[in-house]
Amino acid sequence: LLANSELYENQRQLRKINEDLRRANLAVMETNRLKSEFVANMSHELRTPLNAIIGYTSLLQRGRYGTLTDAQTRALTRISENSANLLELINTFLDFSKIAAGKMEVNVSEVDLVQFLSETIAPLDALARAKGLTLNIEVPPQMPSVSTDPVRLRQAVTNLVSNALKFTERGSVTIALQIEPGAETFTIEVRDTGIGIAEKDLPHIFEEFRQVDGSSTRKYGGTGLGLSIAKKNVMLLDGVIEVESEEGRGSTFRVRLPLRLREHEMMEASEKPA
Ligand code: ADP
Repeated sequence: LLANSELYENQRQLRKINEDLRRANLAVMETNRLKSEFVANMSHELRTPLNAIIGYTSLLQRGRYGTLTDAQTRALTRISENSANLLELINTFLDFSKIAAGKMEVNVSEVDLVQFLSETIAPLDALARAKGLTLNIEVPPQMPSVSTDPVRLRQAVTNLVSNALKFTERGSVTIALQIEPGAETFTIEVRDTGIGIAEKDLPHIFEEFRQVDGSSTRKYGGTGLGLSIAKKNVMLLDGVIEVESEEGRGSTFRVRLPLRLREHEMMEASEKPA
């Protein structure tokens, strides 16, 4: 009888613990939702005045309000560069919060990958030239068009190429498109001759806010979100992302995606845990 009542008491306590856990879980989910919503709202609020700054700077640069001295032109160049950096940062937070809130849409269309890649890296070419790096594209002679979401893919590739340029001081960054005959997938490789990543850090670099050098005195700027955003975009496209790297020699990020992304695959991909 005693054993029975003890058992009963244990079960009662277990149920209570379970209920407490369930409540705590709900509270964490709600806090996370509020956090994402806050970041999304904040990013919107920050973007509006920043776009005004960018717009007026551009008007000034184009001589709309009169002829400028050399010093004024130089100052405007700095304003415009820094505003662009700030906008990129805000967009990163916005993307991140959308992904966290599960609000990323996938819209499949036919994509000419060769054209897509040259359009994607065009805005990064100035950065490459400013650092004295060569930015190459390698494409196979025959490339069929693919069906995927160009917006999601652009976000992933842009983040990989921006990182490659950021962490490379000498040499080149190469974006290589590959397709095996008869295969149902294609690959986009982003190779750099930069600082590389230590083996012990490789398993962690796709985690949110993770930076190999996270110190406040670190040399390279950033949020630690670029790779996690890239990975989530690739997963939404039912693809995989891999990395190979050697410290001091460079890194290769490889994205493998289906040639033809279909509705049901997208559903499954978006249901996969991040
Ligand atoms: P960050 O905003 O810091 O670039 P990411 O999520 O894009 O954040 O990358 C996470 C970390 O992975 C970086 O801080 C860096 O340490 C490392 N990393 C990413 N790409 C490269 C690369 N091409 N070469 C060397 N290190 C890289």
